[in-house]
Amino acid sequence: MSMADYLKNIREKHLKKRKERNPDYPIAVWIQNDVFRDKTFGQSFTIILRTKGCKWAYDSGGCTMCSYLMDASPAEITSENLKNQFDSAVEKYKDQLNKNMSIKLFTSGSFLDTFEIPLETREYIFKRIEEMGAKEVAIESRAEFVTPENMESIKNILSCNIEIGVGIESLNEKIRNVAIHKGVPTKAIENAFSVAEEYDVGIKAYILIKPPFISEKEAIADAIDTANKCIEMGCSRISFCPASIHKGTLIETLWKKNQYRPPFLWSILEILKEVKSKNPDALVMCDTAGVSSKRGAHNNIDCTCNDKIKDIFNDFTVTQKIEKLDIECDCKKEWIEYMEYEQKNIVPLGDEKLI
Ligand code: SF4
Ligand SMILES: [Zn+2]
Repeated sequence: MSMADYLKNIREKHLKKRKERNPDYPIAVWIQNDVFRDKTFGQSFTIILRTKGCKWAYDSGGCTMCSYLMDASPAEITSENLKNQFDSAVEKYKDQLNKNMSIKLFTSGSFLDTFEIPLETREYIFKRIEEMGAKEVAIESRAEFVTPENMESIKNILSCNIEIGVGIESLNEKIRNVAIHKGVPTKAIENAFSVAEEYDVGIKAYILIKPPFISEKEAIADAIDTANKCIEMGCSRISFCPASIHKGTLIETLWKKNQYRPPFLWSILEILKEVKSKNPDALVMCDTAGVSSKRGAHNNIDCTCNDKIKDIFNDFTVTQKIEKLDIECDCKKEWIEYMEYEQKNIVPLGDEKLI
């Protein structure tokens, strides 16, 4: 059985559990403090639109750590539904919105894929934002949709700063396309960077910390190398995504068989320190979804340092101060022992104590 068939199989079983939701309301909407592409601070207004979902996940089973398709709609979502989702989000927060905000439009997939958001809907949403005024607009998309045509369709309407979050995950082709099953050739990533530069659009590089099938040590080296290269290629910021175990994914299967463990927080601290010290002017952020829980990145799960380090990641993201990353705890030696043991092993280790 091919990797794609295997992934499709486990995904299809889970998709049967998807519930139908009101197609006129987004998955989530919120306002939060944030850092903008120009490194200033302010507030962002995030809307997660409910679409049909990521086409790559339907066609090929998708990426080995991703369960976004579970949030997507099992029923058809029309252009009208999507416009209503956007309008209802704006209506709900109308008293708090202002022209100095960043507006983030996410879909748990690719905003620029017309399979998810038809061109006409995209233009409607951008026109409304242009009328409302915004300091920045952020969207997310797979690299192959960062094309001159798509950049023109955005730039023809929006006059503010634009940033596209692209799942680079790893710049090691084998790790990206075999271990993660991303299905994005390196050429497509290089094209996305050069098209974005040509149109003065920022690329926020999402980098996965600890894909499956590689050891903790290899994962640290890969994340550092990928981030340094993305900065060299001109990304507007780095957003590290420590892997967590979502239902219906391949990494959940491996985790249950004790063949995968989410990253240690010590590894993430090392990655952040390395990348920030080598690139002091780069914006380097770390997502903390799932961090400190059993299914998310964690140190020894019983240790009190887990929550402290999660706060440190959040603090570092908004201050960009490298000294915030200094913390010590006795459990650090378990991380060192784990990596030494794993290096002698022939397959990556899970979470169960063997040492
Ligand atoms: S990570 Fe992105 S490209 Fe991969 S399956 Fe999830 S939504 Fe699709
Ligand atoms: Zn500890």
